[in-house]
Amino acid sequence: MTELAQIGVTGLAVMGRNLARNFARHGYRVAVHNRSHAKTESLLADHGSDGTFIGSESMADFVASLERPRKVVIMVKAGGPTDAVIAELVGLLEEGDIVIDAGNAHFPDTIRRERELKEHGLHFVGSGVSGGEEGALNGPSIMPGGSPESYTTLGPILEDISAKVDGVPCCTYIGPDGAGHFVKMVHNGIEYADMQLIAEAYDLLRQGLGASAGEIGEIFKTWNDGDLESFLIEITADVLAHKDAETGQPFVDIVLDQAEQKGTGRWTVQNALDLGVPITGIAEATFARALSGSVPQRTAARAGLQAHTAEWKVADREAFIDDVRQALYASKVVAYSQGFDQIAAASSEYDWNIDRGAMARIWRGGCIIRARFLNRITEAYERDADLPLLLADPYFADVVGNALAAWRRVVAGAAQNGVPTPAFSSSLAYYDGIRAERLPASLIQAQRDFFGAHTYRRVDKEGTFHTEWSADRTESDA
Ligand code: NAP
Repeated sequence: MTELAQIGVTGLAVMGRNLARNFARHGYRVAVHNRSHAKTESLLADHGSDGTFIGSESMADFVASLERPRKVVIMVKAGGPTDAVIAELVGLLEEGDIVIDAGNAHFPDTIRRERELKEHGLHFVGSGVSGGEEGALNGPSIMPGGSPESYTTLGPILEDISAKVDGVPCCTYIGPDGAGHFVKMVHNGIEYADMQLIAEAYDLLRQGLGASAGEIGEIFKTWNDGDLESFLIEITADVLAHKDAETGQPFVDIVLDQAEQKGTGRWTVQNALDLGVPITGIAEATFARALSGSVPQRTAARAGLQAHTAEWKVADREAFIDDVRQALYASKVVAYSQGFDQIAAASSEYDWNIDRGAMARIWRGGCIIRARFLNRITEAYERDADLPLLLADPYFADVVGNALAAWRRVVAGAAQNGVPTPAFSSSLAYYDGIRAERLPASLIQAQRDFFGAHTYRRVDKEGTFHTEWSADRTESDA
């Protein structure tokens, strides 16, 4: 009799197929299943030699081919399809089995599913998986939530197939119920900010220097040898060097300038609004994609809106390139600092007890935002696990402080010359806002009390007060 499988994967599109192959390549016996059997057959035909697969046509046979406690990874289209697969599985699984949703679920769905499956005696692990199809095959960054008990059984297998940096797995237990998918969501939000900042740096170099895509690709290549070293900078250099085969034009010039999104950036911003966390870098990046896709508005604006700018003449080419590099780094620190703030706020709101230093550690490899810089974040949280603001960690305060003059020059130059830099500019505004001794929020509080009797607090005594604005303007305790 064939030995039972140690882990199962249902949903064998690009991600599930590669994840199943990754398990098999690490020596696990893998049960595989897909709604339409053709995908299972093609996996077995094309990659059966990767290891031991047990293919099943029905969900019942798939479940029966797994050793207990069963570990079933669901890798299907997020939303309704995930619920449909879970419903089918629930009737077949037994107490103590573990269901892992490795798709891009919205974390409130994960919280709901975990609660529902607990009633059936099942463990539900909502797990973020980053790195796209390449990562799924060769080692992704994995962010599993759920019960600590399920991690005892599942964790070692996931750590085994995850990316490794300096021998350390890019996988760790994140926290209860929706924590894993939440952290993956913020990871994607940070990815939006990172990409937007890189795009703005590219645009500044293009407009400020009149440089070609190829020349800018060379600049990014040199940046990848320094503090900015990251997967996204590396692929940017590659993309900018690439020429369209059909026209011979730089590839970036023949691509339509309307950015799309699948929704994780939007979820990140929506959640930040709910929690009241200012993630301005991620929000601007998400809105910049929306702006790029606002076709009728862009057409109307191009026809009717003036710029009032002269041609941008950068005097010192090398100094400008270095200014943009420093502004990019400083803005990036702000975007990450904001993202980690959001994780801290959610961790406290949902009682997840997330270790932020560990998040930076498991993002160092496998995932899209992998970067040298993440080591610095882990070190910052090792210095102080409860750091209230990453930006204020002595290392980051110092590097951003050193970049400040360059950052201000770049943002001022962009504004004067009509180059849109929403993420660079808002990050600088955040920096100046968060460090300000006093903010004009006092005026806003006064206005709110004036028109809505919303009350205010005073700098010089405890309590809440209201002024009778429409009467004699006396102040009373509220
Ligand atoms: P996908 O295109 O999102 O989904 C296709 C898979 O879902 C197929 O196996 C399909 O089965 C199955 N499916 C759809 N509706 C179903 C239903 N009602 N019942 C059962 N199965 C159903 O696949 P993917 O790109 O591999 O992504 C899988 C998951 O990983 C998604 O949640 C995605 O968001 C997440 N993810 C993707 C990436 C990426 O780079 N692509 C990265 C990270 C995370 P059939 O073959 O029968 O149609």
